[in-house]
Amino acid sequence: MPSLSPPSLRGAPTAQPDVAQPPITQSPITLAASLGTAFQPLDPVERLLLLRHAVPGPLVFTTSFGLEDQALTHLILRSEIEARFVTLDTGRLFPETHALWAATERHYGIRIEGYYPDTAALEALVDAQGIDGFYTGREARHACCAVRKVAPLARALHGAAGWITGLRADQSATRQDMDFVSFDQARGLLKANPLFDWPRDRIAALVSDEQVPSNPLHQHGFLSIGCAPCTRAVAPGEPERAGRWWWEDEQTKECGLHLSPDGRLVRAGAHA
Ligand code: SF4
Repeated sequence: MPSLSPPSLRGAPTAQPDVAQPPITQSPITLAASLGTAFQPLDPVERLLLLRHAVPGPLVFTTSFGLEDQALTHLILRSEIEARFVTLDTGRLFPETHALWAATERHYGIRIEGYYPDTAALEALVDAQGIDGFYTGREARHACCAVRKVAPLARALHGAAGWITGLRADQSATRQDMDFVSFDQARGLLKANPLFDWPRDRIAALVSDEQVPSNPLHQHGFLSIGCAPCTRAVAPGEPERAGRWWWEDEQTKECGLHLSPDGRLVRAGAHA
């Protein structure tokens, strides 16, 4: 899918961070570990520039228009690194999310590519489990996420050498075990989380200060926003992702996008 972004927003990097650059001849797992270490003292724009320098192939940023993804859109464009902007339209998103998608494109003058579920697979899923079958159990929910999210993500990342995400450590206990940079063995690419160490209030301050477009649902207690039927507002003091798949145990609340097919994470340095 061609990028429609204006060249002024998608040009080559204009500067490189003043840090030691890891050689690009390392194995992907070693490179992930080197980048993870190098990321630590850097700000997010410097991390993006370093990533762009270290990864010779295409970079893809996947956004779901959450607060951190909006901040990252802003920072990627500020860094002027070359990367594709991609989102997964599951067919069950909030109208506010679609409106923010359009507003973000207008605000920055970019195109954010939409990836959609395979029609035949979606029809088979709904025939098998009903339109809201994901409420009936974890297996049914994972089947829905597999068709509406995981398979489209695989197409979106096809051919990519690096995957940029807005994952943060303080989003959940599961995510605290992730890294700045890891090697996604199943997908064969480096996965970088430039805002991994940023708490939510720091993200919110950047979004407010820099007038980054954001989802109005955040003002109504929706801290983490996914598909409409699988997201509820959280009460003050509840964990950020408590409103996602609220009927499930905390430990099962990933949707397959950020786990390998066997449900494990491949931590950078684990097999260096
Ligand atoms: S979040 Fe809910 S509606 Fe969206 S893909 Fe997963 S189970 Fe389906």
